[in-house]
Order: sequence, then C-alpha cells, then structure tokens
Amino acid sequence: MPYTLNIGSIRCHIVSDGIQWSDGGGFFGLVPRILWEPIIRPDERNRIPVALRSLLIESDAGLILVDTGQGDKLGDREWRRFGMEPRLERLIGEMAEVGFGPEDVDVVLFTHLHSDHAGGATRWVDQNDPSSGLLPTFPNARYLAQRVEMAEATFPNERTRGTYFPQNWQPLQAAGLLELVDGDQRLAGGVHTQVVPGHTSSIQAVWVEDGGESLLFLGDTCSWAAHLDRLAWVPAFDILPMQSIEGKRRLRAQALERNTLLFFQHDGQVVTGRLGEGARGAEVRVEISEDPWADVTGE
Ligand SMILES: [Zn+2]
Repeated sequence: MPYTLNIGSIRCHIVSDGIQWSDGGGFFGLVPRILWEPIIRPDERNRIPVALRSLLIESDAGLILVDTGQGDKLGDREWRRFGMEPRLERLIGEMAEVGFGPEDVDVVLFTHLHSDHAGGATRWVDQNDPSSGLLPTFPNARYLAQRVEMAEATFPNERTRGTYFPQNWQPLQAAGLLELVDGDQRLAGGVHTQVVPGHTSSIQAVWVEDGGESLLFLGDTCSWAAHLDRLAWVPAFDILPMQSIEGKRRLRAQALERNTLLFFQHDGQVVTGRLGEGARGAEVRVEISEDPWADVTGE
C-alpha cells in the first residue's frame, strides 16, 4: 500500500515492490534467533518478511525514484526461493496508484546495486519471454550509481556474486542512461545523498529536507528499525560491519538533532518512525507500521 507524505513542501510517496521472505540469519547476522524472534516472527523455514520499499520524490529537479525493488525478471526458482507471489509490475502498480507511470520518472537513484534494489531497473521486452531482450523500465530517466559500487558490482567476489547481476544495469549503460557519481550528491532542492559505508563500500542514504522537516531514507545503512536501537545488530550481508556500526551512530545523531522521520526500506513491520528517549537511549518510535503476516494464507 503506498503512503504519501509531505516533507515541508516536498511531496514523497512510499511505494513497494512487495514482500520477499528471506532467512532471518541474513538480516540478524551474529544475533541469536532467541533475541530477534520476539521482534520479527519467522516462518517455519526460519524466513522473515522483508519489505522491498522505494521512495518517489516530487522534487524541483523532477520525479526521483530511489531504488527499484527486485523487478519482474524473476524465474520460477526465485519466486519460490523468495516466497513471493508470481505477480508482475508490483512497484509499477503502486506508482500508478499515486498517479505516476514509468515514463514519468526523471531520475532513478540506486542506493547500491544489490538485486533487491536494482532488479526493477530493467525488464524483458516481452514480460513473459526472457529471450526477448532487455529494456530500461523507466525509459526517460537518468540512472545514478556510485562509481565504487559500480566497480564492485562489475567485479564481484565469491561473497557478492549472488546479488550483482549485469542484466540489471548493462541495458542502462548500452542506452547511455547510467551516470556514475563520486561521494555525496545534491539531487534537487532539499534532496541529497550521504555515503555511509558498511553494507557495501559506497552505499548511500537519502535525505529530504524542507521547511524545518526532514526524512531519512536509510536503505541498507540500517535495514530494520531494531538495528538502529541496537547498534551492534548488523546484517550478515554487510561487508564492512564495524563501519556499519559507526555509520548508524552518525545517522542516529543527525536524525535525533533534526527530529527526522526515519524511513525503513526492508523492515517487514516498521515503515516509518522517529527517535525518542527510551530505555536504550535514543529509540525508534514507530509512526507507520504494517502486519506482514496479514496476507499470509496457508502457512
Ligand atoms: Zn537490500
């Protein structure tokens, strides 16, 4: 379900590519299940519901889409592995609900190029035929990625090979639509990125600020709300875990100072929240939440 928020005069829409069910150990790393399962209930296969949210920002530099979800190039194996309902155009469908088509997007910003963020950037020409060729999903957009991220995606190692797929960006390069950037970027009035190494070497968070209000798109700099409350909780995916902790400490201080609305991309339950005083010091107070189990039938 999309949500529309106003940050000062900047209108933002939270849209989603759906829920993917992933092993709980991936997102909770070294944290024993007995500590995280009271927070997010796993299914009988130890999988937890992982949201695939994106942000649409109506900025003075055009419509900006932050991340593109898994997209529609999934095969039978992936649908089964992710426990997703085989349904195409999930993100595009939510964008339509808030009044936008793929051709309306001016800028696609990749926080990083893992497949759950970049998969939706390209699509098969014929959605049902993987031999039909690939096209950019958002034909009029410039696509922005960090140069270091592109290098790591292009030359993956044994650990990262399973999430970097050239089919998600090569068609953009071929069409001349992919632009590489270095470090923090100002994308529009009130919209800027902040590189926060940890999950990958150059993953970026996104700030929207206007009229004394602010929103922080944390992405995988802090995948779940519980990970901001407990700095030591770092996903097993993160390639630089100690830097993840320092990055979260920095972002938490910035968000506390600005009373920022925090937007969680993958948290199956917490969509947005704001920091307040709690037993652990600054803790996330939930503002928008979802029940990922509500749609689950036949489990
Ligand atoms: Zn992710």
